[in-house]
Amino acid sequence: MKKYSIQTLNENKRMSTQELLQLITAKVEEGYTDFEINACGQHNIGGSVWAKDRAQSLHFLLRNPGQRVGAMALKGTDIFVEGSAPADVGWLNSGAEIIVDGDCGDTAAHCAAGGKIYVSGRVGTRSGALMKHDPKFESPEFWVLKNTGSFSFEFMGGGIAVVCGYDCDEFSSVLGNRSCVGMVGGVIYVRGKIQDIAECVKIVNLDENDINFLNSGLKEFLNKINKLDLYTSLSNFLDWKKIIPCTKNDNTKKMSVSEFKEKVWVKDGIFSDFVRDDFKVFPIPSPGEGRFHIPSWNAENCINCKICINNCPQSAIEENDKIYKSNPEKCIGCGICSAVCSKKCWTISDNRQEIA
Ligand code: SF4
Ligand code: SF4
Repeated sequence: MKKYSIQTLNENKRMSTQELLQLITAKVEEGYTDFEINACGQHNIGGSVWAKDRAQSLHFLLRNPGQRVGAMALKGTDIFVEGSAPADVGWLNSGAEIIVDGDCGDTAAHCAAGGKIYVSGRVGTRSGALMKHDPKFESPEFWVLKNTGSFSFEFMGGGIAVVCGYDCDEFSSVLGNRSCVGMVGGVIYVRGKIQDIAECVKIVNLDENDINFLNSGLKEFLNKINKLDLYTSLSNFLDWKKIIPCTKNDNTKKMSVSEFKEKVWVKDGIFSDFVRDDFKVFPIPSPGEGRFHIPSWNAENCINCKICINNCPQSAIEENDKIYKSNPEKCIGCGICSAVCSKKCWTISDNRQEIA
């Protein structure tokens, strides 16, 4: 294992992110696999590099990194951060093992698609959002010893997250507020108080498979962060719950869009303090005479590719012996036919003045 140390601050001159990443890439090409880096906030350290000999692993020991530690990092990379790390740790992690021996800023594990991320402290807002799982590869895992900030696990589509709720007595929820909004896949194991999570998920008890997974995974996690002494206090699995998305068979309360905007989105949304909104929801555009735009077809350049037919959301376009027309009873005047036609056969005329 060839080791290379990098000081990114020399005589008050700071190495830029670009210089650092280029230096790492050059040293990897020379066969170095083991890096110790004293960073000064440089971004993206540890991401998207392969060892010259692909059978070898790359190892990074980092201090004081900037955003996106291990962004898009690959299988065969392991990263250890001594102390805390700012936002986007493991962004789109693609297989690396990333250990942060401290807290993480916002959006840790954001979009993570593979590998394992272990955090020995807390993680910030929107952590775990958009995690995903391609079944061709192993599921990504995201382990947090303490708690997450609000809005975490938004739009989670797959993967496994574990929030151990250690040292969280002062918090009313170990997932903050409004977490799991739009979650459609994956699983979150949580120990501790949960409140104010999205209506699209449900909280259920663990089954035997869950307990087996947690039992072995917890030991590995605590070992990685050098806190095996916490195993006894964290391994009472009656203290744990599982959060999974509701399915269409779950009897979830449905809201209208305007009700959602008024009661949920704007009230708790990120612009809620200053947004001005009359909560009006525009009706679905109507077909017929009232539509704003009317498409008309010109045969001259038409190559009969049928792309317009295939893209019309209303199935309004009819073709008969290579003559195309839009059925006004179905057409809503959206203009998609014109936008997708490479031969510019569709002209959209404005009908609004007529309506006025
Ligand atoms: S997309 Fe354009 S070229 Fe293709 S069939 Fe429709 S009108 Fe003709
Ligand atoms: S304007 Fe929209 S609805 Fe009407 S024919 Fe074109 S694609 Fe279909």
